Amino acid sequence: MRFGLRKGVASRPWRLSAKLLIASSVVTVIGFSAICASVMLDMRRGEEELARQSLENLASSIDSDISRNVELYDLSLRAVASSMVVPEIKDVSKTIRHLILFDHAATAKHFGAIQVFDDEGRLTIDASTLDPAPDNRSNEEFFQVHRDRPDAGLFISRPMLYRGAYAIVLSRRISSDDGRFLGVVAGSIRFSYFHDLFGRLNLGPDDIITVLRRDATVIMRTPFDLDVIGKNLGRVPGVMRVLSEPSGSFSGLGALDGVPRLLVWRDGPRPLVVLVGKPWTSIFSLWRREATRMGAIMTALVSFVLGVTLFLAREIGRRALAEDKLEELATTDALTGLRNRRKFDAEIDAEWRRAARQKMPLALLMIDADHFKSYNDTFGHQAGDQVLVGIAICISDSVRRAGDCAARYGGEEFAVLLPGVSPADALSVAETIRLKVQQWSGDPAVTTVSIGVASLTPSATMEWHELVKAADKALYAAKANGRDRSVLASIPKLSLVA
Ligand code: GH3
Ligand code: MG
Ligand code: MG
Repeated sequence: MRFGLRKGVASRPWRLSAKLLIASSVVTVIGFSAICASVMLDMRRGEEELARQSLENLASSIDSDISRNVELYDLSLRAVASSMVVPEIKDVSKTIRHLILFDHAATAKHFGAIQVFDDEGRLTIDASTLDPAPDNRSNEEFFQVHRDRPDAGLFISRPMLYRGAYAIVLSRRISSDDGRFLGVVAGSIRFSYFHDLFGRLNLGPDDIITVLRRDATVIMRTPFDLDVIGKNLGRVPGVMRVLSEPSGSFSGLGALDGVPRLLVWRDGPRPLVVLVGKPWTSIFSLWRREATRMGAIMTALVSFVLGVTLFLAREIGRRALAEDKLEELATTDALTGLRNRRKFDAEIDAEWRRAARQKMPLALLMIDADHFKSYNDTFGHQAGDQVLVGIAICISDSVRRAGDCAARYGGEEFAVLLPGVSPADALSVAETIRLKVQQWSGDPAVTTVSIGVASLTPSATMEWHELVKAADKALYAAKANGRDRSVLASIPKLSLVA
């Protein structure tokens, strides 16, 4: 039979270090993960910034190429518009007039021949021929715009089929000196120009380039899609911002394919606005691969560290249990489960010093089984052992306070240490034990105990042996006075009272 009287095994320093090991591993793992995550986020920001810069450069170079060509062509249109109002132009031959009106710049690749229409939209002069076939463009938007708005300046049409090819028509109004509408000079830039321009660029599969007119009409787009060309994107989120701000970027979903992209636009003289976009998946593809690799390495490392930590913590826990067990074995009496003599000596020493510091009393009960030898002789040693266990239970049942220490002092003798307990209270605890033993044994003639009680407040000159001696003396007195009783040693004279 075994019962633990050990009051809360104090946690060992190395048991604390098992928790410390787990805590420091977790902190280290969190720290490293945070550093890793922050590096990866920095890399991500770097990739985004790089993509933004290269898209800005791309938009800028496309914009300047388009602007330069539009400007070049516009110069030719201006020259025709201003020459047309010179009165002498009517007097020269068609050949001379062609030479005066049309320079060679306007015959560059992708540029359509310049044409002049009179105030009713009739084709009067065509750069490509001296005798143009009759044609009337009075229904065209570009003609009506110039006719109705003297300040229209350079007008760029929506994409249209113009003289057998998809093109945008650039036009200017011809006004007399007094501002009267005399007609329109128009020319075209074919789509082949844009195809050629975009074809020279190294674009990713989902990269987009959109050229917009100021009213959000799509002039050109790559990937090329005839259904989109000419559409007005004014309602698409972000497009109005593109047209109103000189340059910038935003993240948006593709209007057609729903692909999330980084979209960047750049300012130019802005007859047209160039918007370029790259899918986020392609911007971050390299980074994602790197992040996945780092993530896998980190996961493996973290798992390893946590695994090793848990293993070590478990081992430490096992050792802690084993050490507790060992200490319990080393400080416990095997038969009764009470503390053994060794432990008792250590406890009384510590409690004595504590009592001296706190100027508190320390009480000791010395308990001895009465006539135990004859019990052994009568009932046998094993039955005697059971009685000792029974007495131990009676003692531990009566002594329950945290600082109390019940021990087997030796043979059939027990000792109980009661810190902070006055002589009177100690005597009452002794009586409780004695009566409990009496009750438990059933027959007072067979098993009783005698108890010597001493309680004193240590002074500087005293040693704990004096307490033991006093309790022993009291026990002796109890025996001498007939057994089955408790006797309190009188302190400080240590005289005995029955
Ligand atoms: P008293 O009332 O004066 O104390 O008489 P007593 O017989 O108890 O005292 P004594 O010191 O003469 O005898 C102690 C006996 O206790 C001797 C021994 O047989 C018995 N004893 C000591 N240790 C053990 C033990 O571990 N188990 C058993 N069964 N008996 C023990
Ligand atoms: Mg004895
Ligand atoms: Mg005895």
